[in-house]
Amino acid sequence: MKKIVLIRYGEIHLKGQNRPFFERALVNSIKDQMKQYGATVERTQGRYYLRDFQESDYSEIREKLRKIFGIHSFSPAYETDKDMESISEMVRTVAKEQIELLGKDGLTFKVDCKRADKRFPMNSMALAAELGGVVLDAYPDLKVNIHDPDFTIFVEIREHALIYSEKVMGSQGMPKGTSGKALLLLSGGIDSPVAGYMMAKRGLSLQAIHYHSFPYTSERAKEKVISLAKEMAQYMGPIKIHMIHFTDIQMTIYEKCPEEQLTILMRVFMMKIAEKVAKDNSLSALVTGESLAQVASQTLDSLAVTNSAVDLPVFRPLIGMDKLEIIDIANRIGTYETSILPYEDCCTVFVPKHPVTHPRKEKIFKSLKLLDVDALIEDALSKSETITVEP
Ligand code: ATP
Ligand code: MG
Repeated sequence: MKKIVLIRYGEIHLKGQNRPFFERALVNSIKDQMKQYGATVERTQGRYYLRDFQESDYSEIREKLRKIFGIHSFSPAYETDKDMESISEMVRTVAKEQIELLGKDGLTFKVDCKRADKRFPMNSMALAAELGGVVLDAYPDLKVNIHDPDFTIFVEIREHALIYSEKVMGSQGMPKGTSGKALLLLSGGIDSPVAGYMMAKRGLSLQAIHYHSFPYTSERAKEKVISLAKEMAQYMGPIKIHMIHFTDIQMTIYEKCPEEQLTILMRVFMMKIAEKVAKDNSLSALVTGESLAQVASQTLDSLAVTNSAVDLPVFRPLIGMDKLEIIDIANRIGTYETSILPYEDCCTVFVPKHPVTHPRKEKIFKSLKLLDVDALIEDALSKSETITVEP
C-alpha cells in the first residue's frame, strides 16, 4: 500500500491539437514545485500521478499543489493491487480516516466505483455494493446514503486500484507561462496584486514595475511591495520587480503643469515608462489593477487618456469588479493583510485637491508638451533598480 496523489487538470481538456503543449507546461510546473520532495510525476490517460514522496511531506505538498495554475483538483489516494482483499483493506482504511476526521456519530457514506479496466471481473455497481458491505461490516454504526452522504469513498480500477475520499480544489486556470509575458504595474494597494494573480492564472508570466517617490515614500513602503510580490511568487514563481524612481517626474509635473491634472499626468507617465520597460524586456502587454469608476483616474475619460498614452495592450482584469469582490480574492490568495499596511504610496504623496475626473485628451497632451517627456523617462530609468523576489 502506498499513498500517491491523483491530479486532474481542467480547461486543458478543451484544447485540441495544442493540448500536448499545455500538458507539458503543467507537468513542468508540477515537477518544478515537487522536486524538493523527491516526488516523481507520471502522466497517463489525461491525468497526473505524483509518487515516491514521504507521507510526512504531504501537508506541504498539498499547499503547493493548491497554488499551481492549471490543476483542477487533486486527491491523495491509496494505490493497491486489483484484488478484492487489498481493495477491501484500503476501503476500510479510508473509511476509518474519514470517521476520525469528521468525528461525529450517525455518519453516512457511499462508495463510488469507476472501472476503467473492463477486464476487472465485477462491474462498477456490483463492486460498489460489495465494498459498501465491507465498510458496514467493519463500522456497523455507519449508514449508506447515496444522495447526500457525509463522505464518499471513491474506488477507481485502472492499472492499479485507487482508493480515496478527499477531492481538493486546485487554482484552475492555464499553466504558467503558456499565454506569454506581461508587465504588472504593482502598487502597494489591494487591487494590483489581485490583477496580477488573475492574469497569471490565465497563463501569463509576469514581471512587475513599481514607482516610488523616495524620500517622500519610505523604505518600508518598498518592503511592503516586496512582501506582496513574495506572496504572488507562491503562485507564479520568482518575480522580477523594476523599482522606478518617480520623484523627479512628480516634482516636475507639479512645477510645470496645472495642479488638477497632476494625477492623470502621473498616470500617463507610469504607462509610458511601463511600456518602455516592457519593450526592453520582451514583454507584450501591461496589466493594471484599475476598476471602472473606483477613483478619479479610473473614470472612462481618464482610462481613455492613459490608454492612448501607449501602444501595447493593457489588461485590466478588475475593470468590472466591485471593491468587495476584489477584497474577497485578495483574502483568498493571501495578499490582503499586507496590502492594508498603512505605508504611503507615490500617488498619495502628491495629490491635487480637485483632480480632473473627465480629462480631455487634447488638454492633457498639451500639458505634456510643457515637459521633456523622453528626457524625464530616461533620467528616471537611470536611477532605477531591478530586484528578483523569490517565493
Ligand atoms: P491599488 O490597490 O492597486 O493600489 P488603487 O485603487 O490604489 O489600486 P490607483 O492608485 O489609482 O488605484 O492605481 C491604479 C493602478 O495603477 C494600480 O492598480 C496599479 O496597477 C497602478 N499603480 C498605481 N500606483 C502605482 C505604483 N506606485 N507603482 C506601480 N503601479 C501603480
Ligand atoms: Mg494604488
